[in-house]
Amino acid sequence: MGKSSNDPTLTPKELTGLRDEAADATEGCCTCVFRKDGTHGPSGKLTQMRADGTTPNGQTDTNFKAEIIINQGGSPKAVHVLTRWKMINKTSDTTRYPDTTTLTDDVVNQRVAKIPGSIRKSWNARPYKLKITDSKCGENTFKVDFDAPQVTASSHYDLEFVNVIDAATNNMGANNDYQGIKSGRSYILPSSFSGKFNLADNRSATNGGDTHLEAHEYGHMIGLKDEYHDVGLDRGGVQYEFFDGTSSLHASNTDLMGTMGTTTAQPERYCLTIAYAVVAIFAQNGITVTGLEIV
Ligand SMILES: [Zn+2]
Repeated sequence: MGKSSNDPTLTPKELTGLRDEAADATEGCCTCVFRKDGTHGPSGKLTQMRADGTTPNGQTDTNFKAEIIINQGGSPKAVHVLTRWKMINKTSDTTRYPDTTTLTDDVVNQRVAKIPGSIRKSWNARPYKLKITDSKCGENTFKVDFDAPQVTASSHYDLEFVNVIDAATNNMGANNDYQGIKSGRSYILPSSFSGKFNLADNRSATNGGDTHLEAHEYGHMIGLKDEYHDVGLDRGGVQYEFFDGTSSLHASNTDLMGTMGTTTAQPERYCLTIAYAVVAIFAQNGITVTGLEIV
C-alpha cells in the first residue's frame, strides 16, 4: 500500500536506502545524503531565564539523541529526524512510584502505540522548512519531518511509563511533589536520555486526551527547554539566538513548549536545535553554511 502524501514517515526500505547512500557520501557534495545517528548539540544558543525573565538561570539547550538524515538529492530536499524510544513498564514499581497502578505489558504497548502518530501530527503540522545557503551549493530549501518510532533495541531514549490515576490532582497523584519523581508528572531527563510518562495524564495521547503531552515532551527530546514562567523552579522563559544573530525571548505563552494552549509545533524557534544540528552535520561533511532561515 502506498504512503499517503501527508504522511512523511519513511518506509524501512526507504530509510535503508538513504542510510546506504549516506555511507557513500563524498565531502562537499551537493546532491548527497548525509547522516548522523547519535548525540547532537548543544548549540548554546537557547538560554533559559530566571523567574525575573531577564537574567540567565544557567540552563541552556541540552544535547539530544536522534538519527538525522539530510537528503540533498531528493525532491523535495529533506531533513529527516528520527527519535527512537523504548518502553519500560514501571506501572508496578510502587517502590519508586508509590501512586502507580499495574498494567500489563500488552496494555501498555497498546496505549503507547498512539505516541508516534501523536508526535508526527503535532510536529509535522506546519511543516518546518530550512532555507540554507552555503558557499558551495548556494541556496536550498529542505523540508523537515519528524518521527518517533517505538523500538525494543538501539533506542535514543528509554522511557519509563507509570499509571498514576487521581482525577482530583489532574492525575499527578497524592505524591504530587512537583519536582520529584513520585508524582504523575511526565518529564524528560536530558542528561541520561531517559524520561517518565504518565499513561493516566488527561493530556496524553495514550489516555485518549487532547494528545499534546507527548508532543511537548518530544520537544525536550530534541533539546528544547520549557518556556513557561515558573517562579517555583526559577524559570522565566527562553531566549533564542537565531543563525543571523537576532534573538527573541518567549515566556509564559500559549505555545507547545510553554503553557500548551497551542497543541502543534508552530514557532520558527522550535526548529532551532535541529537547524544547528544540521549545520554541524554539513560542517562535518566539508560544507560551510553561511545563511540559515527557518521558514
Ligand atoms: Zn516541559
